[in-house]
Amino acid sequence: LNYHTARFLTSSPTLEQCPPDAGAEVAFAGRSNAGKSSAINALTQQKALARTSRTPGRTQLINFFTVAGDADRRLVDLPGYGYAKVPEKVKLEWQRHLSDYLRARRSLRGVVLMMDVRHPLTEFDQMMLGWADEQDMPVRILLTKADKLKPGAARGALQQVRHRLQEWEDLVSVQLFSALKRQGVDEAAAQLDAWLLD
Ligand code: GDP
Repeated sequence: LNYHTARFLTSSPTLEQCPPDAGAEVAFAGRSNAGKSSAINALTQQKALARTSRTPGRTQLINFFTVAGDADRRLVDLPGYGYAKVPEKVKLEWQRHLSDYLRARRSLRGVVLMMDVRHPLTEFDQMMLGWADEQDMPVRILLTKADKLKPGAARGALQQVRHRLQEWEDLVSVQLFSALKRQGVDEAAAQLDAWLLD
C-alpha cells in the first residue's frame, strides 16, 4: 500500500465514537516522546499528519487515517501516554480507553508500538504488551531514534529486546527505526501491508 496516500479521517474522544468497526486497521501506540508522531509521518511521508500534543492533560483523541482513500483500511494514532504531570485519575482513564480499544475493536489487525531504542520496555510498554497478549494481538515494536546510537549499540539493543520478549516471539516482532534517517521504514511498511492486505 502507498502510505503517503494516508489522509485524516476523524478524531474520536471515546470508543463509542470511533468510525464503523469494519475492514482493517493498524494502531500506533507509544509512551509520549517515544517518536510515534515522527514514525507515522515518516511512514506516510507527510510532515505533519500526526501532530504531537505538547499540552499535558489535553483531551486525548484517537485519530483515524484512511489509506488509499479506502475507509476500510485505516491507520490509528492512539493517544500518547505518560506525561509526568498528568493526574493519576487521568492516567487511569487513558489506560482504560486503550485497553478497551484493544479488546473491543474487531477490525484491529496489529499494533505498532514505538519505544525509544535507548529506553525500551517501560512500564507502559509492558502494559501494552500484556493487553496485546491477552487478545492474541500481533505487535511490531519499532525501536525508534536508532540514529542516536552507534550501529553496533543499536544492534545490541535490538538483540536485547528480542531476547527479553522471547516467550512472545510468535506475536511480537522487533526492528530498528529512525524517522530522521528513514531507517526501517520499508520494513515497517511491509508489516503494515501484511496486516492490512490480509
Ligand atoms: P511522540 O510524542 O511519541 O509522538 O514523539 P515525537 O515523534 O514527537 O518525537 C519526540 C522527540 O524525539 C522529538 O523531539 C523528535 O524530533 C525526536 N525524534 C523522533 N524520531 C526521531 C528519530 O528518528 N531520530 C532522532 N534523532 N530524533 C527523533
